[in-house]
Amino acid sequence: MTDRIRRPAEPADAAERRSKKPVVVYPNGTLAAPDLARLGKARETLEKIDEVIVPPRDGRTFTVPRGHFFRVVSIEGPQVGDLNLWNAHDLNERFFSGKTRALHATHVSVGDRLWSTLPSLRPMATITHDTLGWYGWDDDGAGVHDVIGTRCDPYTNRLLSGGDYHNCCHSNLCRALSSARGMSFKEAEPHVHDVLNVFMCTGFTKDTHQYFMKASPVRPGDYLEFFAEIDLLGALSACPGGDCGSSHSSDVAACYPLKVEVFRPDRDLLSDWPFPDRNGYVSPV
Ligand SMILES: [Zn+2]
Repeated sequence: MTDRIRRPAEPADAAERRSKKPVVVYPNGTLAAPDLARLGKARETLEKIDEVIVPPRDGRTFTVPRGHFFRVVSIEGPQVGDLNLWNAHDLNERFFSGKTRALHATHVSVGDRLWSTLPSLRPMATITHDTLGWYGWDDDGAGVHDVIGTRCDPYTNRLLSGGDYHNCCHSNLCRALSSARGMSFKEAEPHVHDVLNVFMCTGFTKDTHQYFMKASPVRPGDYLEFFAEIDLLGALSACPGGDCGSSHSSDVAACYPLKVEVFRPDRDLLSDWPFPDRNGYVSPV
Protein backbone atom coordinates (compact mmCIF):
# COMPACT_ATOMS: atom_id res chain seq x y z
CA MET A 1 0.00 0.00 0.00
CA THR A 2 1.50 3.35 -0.94
CA ASP A 3 1.63 6.36 1.37
CA ARG A 4 -0.83 8.07 -0.98
CA ILE A 5 -3.50 5.86 0.54
CA ARG A 6 -4.47 6.52 4.13
CA ARG A 7 -4.89 3.26 5.99
CA PRO A 8 -8.07 3.01 8.02
CA ALA A 9 -7.74 1.95 11.67
CA GLU A 10 -7.37 -1.79 12.10
CA PRO A 11 -10.29 -3.74 13.57
CA ALA A 12 -9.73 -5.50 16.88
CA ASP A 13 -9.53 -8.90 15.19
CA ALA A 14 -7.09 -7.83 12.44
CA ALA A 15 -4.40 -10.32 13.51
CA GLU A 16 -6.88 -13.17 13.53
CA ARG A 17 -8.20 -12.22 10.09
CA ARG A 18 -4.65 -12.10 8.72
CA SER A 19 -3.70 -15.46 10.20
CA LYS A 20 -5.68 -17.62 7.75
CA LYS A 21 -3.56 -20.10 5.81
CA PRO A 22 -3.03 -19.56 2.07
CA VAL A 23 -4.65 -22.11 -0.22
CA VAL A 24 -3.07 -22.62 -3.65
CA VAL A 25 -5.91 -21.78 -6.03
CA TYR A 26 -5.07 -24.46 -8.57
CA PRO A 27 -3.20 -26.99 -6.44
CA ASN A 28 -0.18 -28.83 -7.79
CA GLY A 29 -1.11 -32.27 -9.01
CA THR A 30 -4.62 -31.44 -10.17
CA LEU A 31 -3.45 -30.52 -13.67
CA ALA A 32 -2.38 -33.47 -15.83
CA ALA A 33 1.39 -33.17 -16.31
CA PRO A 34 2.98 -33.52 -19.75
CA ASP A 35 5.08 -36.63 -20.36
CA LEU A 36 8.45 -34.87 -20.27
CA ALA A 37 10.39 -38.14 -20.49
CA ARG A 38 8.77 -38.86 -23.84
CA LEU A 39 9.32 -35.32 -25.09
CA GLY A 40 12.93 -35.67 -23.89
CA LYS A 41 13.40 -38.72 -26.13
CA ALA A 42 11.91 -36.80 -29.07
CA ARG A 43 14.29 -33.89 -28.34
CA GLU A 44 17.23 -36.18 -29.05
CA THR A 45 16.10 -36.51 -32.67
CA LEU A 46 15.58 -32.84 -33.54
CA GLU A 47 16.34 -31.64 -37.03
CA LYS A 48 16.25 -27.89 -37.68
CA ILE A 49 13.81 -26.94 -40.42
CA ASP A 50 13.52 -23.17 -40.10
CA GLU A 51 15.14 -20.13 -38.55
CA VAL A 52 14.00 -16.52 -38.16
CA ILE A 53 16.15 -13.62 -36.97
CA VAL A 54 14.28 -10.90 -35.09
CA PRO A 55 16.13 -7.59 -35.50
CA PRO A 56 16.65 -5.35 -32.45
CA ARG A 57 13.63 -3.12 -31.65
CA ASP A 58 11.55 -5.00 -34.20
CA GLY A 59 9.29 -8.05 -34.49
CA ARG A 60 8.94 -11.10 -36.72
CA THR A 61 6.47 -13.96 -37.04
CA PHE A 62 7.15 -17.67 -37.41
CA THR A 63 5.06 -20.83 -37.77
CA VAL A 64 5.46 -24.13 -35.93
CA PRO A 65 3.48 -27.21 -37.00
CA ARG A 66 1.90 -29.26 -34.24
CA GLY A 67 4.34 -31.86 -32.91
CA HIS A 68 7.40 -29.73 -33.70
CA PHE A 69 9.67 -27.84 -31.28
CA PHE A 70 10.84 -24.24 -31.35
CA ARG A 71 13.46 -22.26 -29.46
CA VAL A 72 13.87 -18.58 -28.68
CA VAL A 73 17.63 -18.11 -28.66
CA SER A 74 19.84 -15.28 -27.38
CA ILE A 75 22.52 -14.63 -29.98
CA GLU A 76 24.57 -11.44 -29.73
CA GLY A 77 23.97 -10.01 -26.29
CA PRO A 78 21.55 -9.99 -23.35
CA GLN A 79 18.10 -9.40 -24.81
CA VAL A 80 14.51 -9.85 -23.69
CA GLY A 81 11.82 -11.12 -26.10
CA ASP A 82 8.06 -10.56 -25.97
CA LEU A 83 6.22 -13.60 -27.32
CA ASN A 84 2.70 -13.89 -28.74
CA LEU A 85 1.15 -17.18 -29.90
CA TRP A 86 -1.97 -17.89 -31.94
CA ASN A 87 -3.70 -20.96 -33.31
CA ALA A 88 -2.33 -20.76 -36.87
CA HIS A 89 -5.84 -21.41 -38.27
CA ASP A 90 -7.84 -19.19 -35.90
CA LEU A 91 -6.41 -15.95 -34.52
CA ASN A 92 -9.26 -15.81 -31.99
CA GLU A 93 -7.53 -18.59 -30.07
CA ARG A 94 -4.43 -17.04 -28.59
CA PHE A 95 -2.10 -17.24 -25.60
CA PHE A 96 -3.84 -16.53 -22.27
CA SER A 97 -1.17 -15.05 -20.02
CA GLY A 98 -3.47 -14.56 -17.01
CA LYS A 99 -4.74 -18.16 -16.89
CA THR A 100 -1.23 -19.50 -17.49
CA ARG A 101 -0.10 -17.44 -14.46
CA ALA A 102 -2.98 -18.78 -12.36
CA LEU A 103 -2.47 -22.41 -13.39
CA HIS A 104 1.33 -22.42 -13.03
CA ALA A 105 3.08 -19.38 -11.50
CA THR A 106 4.20 -15.82 -12.16
CA HIS A 107 7.24 -17.19 -14.04
CA VAL A 108 7.29 -20.34 -16.18
CA SER A 109 9.85 -23.00 -16.97
CA VAL A 110 10.19 -26.67 -17.96
CA GLY A 111 6.96 -28.66 -17.67
CA ASP A 112 4.76 -25.55 -17.63
CA ARG A 113 2.40 -24.98 -20.52
CA LEU A 114 1.18 -21.93 -22.37
CA TRP A 115 -2.63 -22.03 -22.30
CA SER A 116 -5.04 -20.57 -24.84
CA THR A 117 -7.92 -18.19 -24.33
CA LEU A 118 -11.50 -19.12 -23.46
CA PRO A 119 -13.47 -20.93 -24.75
CA SER A 120 -10.68 -23.13 -26.14
CA LEU A 121 -8.50 -23.25 -22.99
CA ARG A 122 -6.01 -25.91 -23.96
CA PRO A 123 -2.22 -26.10 -23.93
CA MET A 124 -0.77 -24.39 -27.01
CA ALA A 125 2.83 -25.21 -26.14
CA THR A 126 4.79 -27.06 -23.44
CA ILE A 127 8.16 -25.79 -22.22
CA THR A 128 10.71 -28.56 -22.74
CA HIS A 129 14.08 -26.92 -22.02
CA ASP A 130 15.30 -23.78 -20.29
CA THR A 131 19.00 -23.00 -20.08
CA LEU A 132 18.15 -20.33 -17.45
CA GLY A 133 16.38 -22.92 -15.30
CA TRP A 134 19.23 -22.61 -12.78
CA TYR A 135 18.21 -19.02 -11.92
CA GLY A 136 15.26 -19.85 -9.69
CA TRP A 137 14.35 -16.98 -7.36
CA ASP A 138 17.01 -14.41 -6.46
CA ASP A 139 17.37 -12.33 -3.28
CA ASP A 140 15.04 -9.68 -4.71
CA GLY A 141 12.37 -12.32 -5.31
CA ALA A 142 12.87 -12.05 -9.07
CA GLY A 143 12.72 -14.89 -11.60
CA VAL A 144 12.91 -15.21 -15.39
CA HIS A 145 10.27 -15.74 -18.11
CA ASP A 146 7.32 -13.97 -16.50
CA VAL A 147 3.64 -14.00 -17.37
CA ILE A 148 3.00 -10.89 -15.24
CA GLY A 149 3.89 -8.04 -17.56
CA THR A 150 1.79 -7.14 -20.53
CA ARG A 151 4.23 -5.76 -23.15
CA CYS A 152 5.70 -2.27 -23.52
CA ASP A 153 3.29 -0.20 -25.60
CA PRO A 154 3.13 3.32 -27.05
CA TYR A 155 -0.11 4.20 -25.24
CA THR A 156 1.25 3.64 -21.74
CA ASN A 157 4.46 5.34 -22.81
CA ARG A 158 2.52 8.41 -23.94
CA LEU A 159 0.52 8.36 -20.72
CA LEU A 160 3.65 8.32 -18.59
CA SER A 161 6.18 10.30 -20.63
CA GLY A 162 4.02 12.41 -22.90
CA GLY A 163 6.13 11.30 -25.86
CA ASP A 164 5.55 8.97 -28.77
CA TYR A 165 7.74 5.92 -29.40
CA HIS A 166 7.03 3.60 -32.31
CA ASN A 167 9.14 0.52 -31.55
CA CYS A 168 7.51 -0.72 -28.38
CA CYS A 169 6.93 -4.48 -28.30
CA HIS A 170 3.21 -3.91 -28.88
CA SER A 171 3.93 -1.98 -32.09
CA ASN A 172 6.57 -4.48 -33.22
CA LEU A 173 4.14 -7.39 -32.72
CA CYS A 174 1.34 -5.53 -34.56
CA ARG A 175 3.58 -4.77 -37.53
CA ALA A 176 4.88 -8.36 -37.64
CA LEU A 177 1.37 -9.84 -37.60
CA SER A 178 0.13 -7.29 -40.08
CA SER A 179 2.81 -8.15 -42.65
CA ALA A 180 2.50 -11.92 -42.07
CA ARG A 181 -1.26 -11.94 -42.59
CA GLY A 182 -1.69 -9.09 -45.07
CA MET A 183 -3.69 -7.04 -42.60
CA SER A 184 -3.48 -3.35 -41.89
CA PHE A 185 -1.91 -2.31 -38.59
CA LYS A 186 -5.39 -1.44 -37.29
CA GLU A 187 -6.73 -4.89 -38.23
CA ALA A 188 -3.78 -6.66 -36.65
CA GLU A 189 -3.72 -4.68 -33.41
CA PRO A 190 -6.71 -6.32 -31.63
CA HIS A 191 -5.08 -9.74 -32.08
CA VAL A 192 -1.91 -8.73 -30.22
CA HIS A 193 -2.12 -9.81 -26.60
CA ASP A 194 -0.35 -10.07 -23.25
CA VAL A 195 2.97 -11.83 -23.71
CA LEU A 196 5.32 -14.35 -22.27
CA ASN A 197 8.35 -12.23 -21.36
CA VAL A 198 11.09 -14.57 -22.54
CA PHE A 199 14.38 -14.08 -20.62
CA MET A 200 13.00 -11.06 -18.73
CA CYS A 201 13.94 -10.94 -15.03
CA THR A 202 11.12 -9.55 -12.94
CA GLY A 203 9.37 -9.65 -9.61
CA PHE A 204 7.35 -7.61 -7.15
CA THR A 205 9.04 -5.28 -4.66
CA LYS A 206 8.85 -6.63 -1.12
CA ASP A 207 7.58 -3.40 0.46
CA THR A 208 5.03 -2.11 -2.06
CA HIS A 209 4.44 -5.20 -4.27
CA GLN A 210 5.14 -3.18 -7.41
CA TYR A 211 6.22 -4.89 -10.61
CA PHE A 212 9.96 -4.45 -11.15
CA MET A 213 12.51 -5.54 -13.73
CA LYS A 214 16.24 -6.00 -13.48
CA ALA A 215 19.00 -6.84 -15.96
CA SER A 216 18.31 -10.25 -17.50
CA PRO A 217 20.85 -13.01 -16.71
CA VAL A 218 20.51 -14.27 -20.32
CA ARG A 219 23.70 -14.64 -22.36
CA PRO A 220 24.28 -15.60 -26.00
CA GLY A 221 23.63 -19.30 -26.41
CA ASP A 222 20.83 -19.41 -23.86
CA TYR A 223 17.45 -20.56 -25.10
CA LEU A 224 13.91 -21.39 -24.03
CA GLU A 225 12.41 -24.36 -25.89
CA PHE A 226 8.78 -25.28 -26.53
CA PHE A 227 6.85 -28.21 -27.94
CA ALA A 228 3.92 -27.13 -30.15
CA GLU A 229 0.70 -28.84 -29.00
CA ILE A 230 -1.29 -27.25 -31.86
CA ASP A 231 -0.32 -25.59 -35.16
CA LEU A 232 1.12 -22.25 -34.06
CA LEU A 233 1.65 -18.81 -35.47
CA GLY A 234 4.12 -16.99 -33.23
CA ALA A 235 5.37 -13.41 -33.10
CA LEU A 236 8.43 -12.27 -31.21
CA SER A 237 9.59 -8.72 -30.46
CA ALA A 238 13.18 -7.93 -29.47
CA CYS A 239 12.21 -5.46 -26.71
CA PRO A 240 13.65 -1.94 -27.04
CA GLY A 241 14.61 -2.34 -23.38
CA GLY A 242 17.39 -4.78 -24.38
CA ASP A 243 18.19 -6.70 -21.18
CA CYS A 244 15.56 -4.50 -19.43
CA GLY A 245 18.12 -3.46 -16.81
CA SER A 246 17.33 0.23 -17.02
CA SER A 247 14.62 1.49 -19.36
CA HIS A 248 12.31 0.57 -22.18
CA SER A 249 10.13 2.35 -24.73
CA SER A 250 13.13 4.31 -26.03
CA ASP A 251 16.32 3.94 -28.07
CA VAL A 252 18.56 4.33 -25.00
CA ALA A 253 19.24 0.68 -24.06
CA ALA A 254 21.69 -1.60 -25.89
CA CYS A 255 19.53 -3.90 -27.96
CA TYR A 256 20.34 -7.17 -29.74
CA PRO A 257 18.62 -9.52 -32.19
CA LEU A 258 16.98 -12.79 -31.16
CA LYS A 259 16.72 -16.01 -33.12
CA VAL A 260 13.77 -18.39 -33.41
CA GLU A 261 14.60 -21.93 -34.49
CA VAL A 262 12.04 -24.56 -35.50
CA PHE A 263 12.83 -28.27 -35.22
CA ARG A 264 11.20 -31.47 -36.43
CA PRO A 265 11.56 -34.57 -34.23
CA ASP A 266 11.32 -38.21 -35.33
CA ARG A 267 7.54 -38.23 -35.57
CA ASP A 268 7.25 -41.97 -34.92
CA LEU A 269 8.23 -41.22 -31.31
CA LEU A 270 5.17 -38.99 -30.89
CA SER A 271 2.67 -40.74 -33.20
CA ASP A 272 0.16 -41.26 -30.37
CA TRP A 273 0.92 -38.03 -28.46
CA PRO A 274 -2.33 -36.78 -26.84
CA PHE A 275 -2.63 -33.54 -28.82
CA PRO A 276 -5.25 -31.43 -27.03
CA ASP A 277 -8.73 -30.68 -28.37
CA ARG A 278 -10.48 -27.43 -27.58
CA ASN A 279 -12.05 -27.44 -24.12
CA GLY A 280 -15.27 -29.49 -24.08
CA TYR A 281 -17.42 -27.25 -21.86
CA VAL A 282 -20.68 -26.12 -23.49
CA SER A 283 -22.91 -23.46 -21.94
CA PRO A 284 -26.50 -24.71 -21.42
CA VAL A 285 -27.93 -21.50 -22.93
ZN1 LIG B 1 9.14 -4.48 -24.70
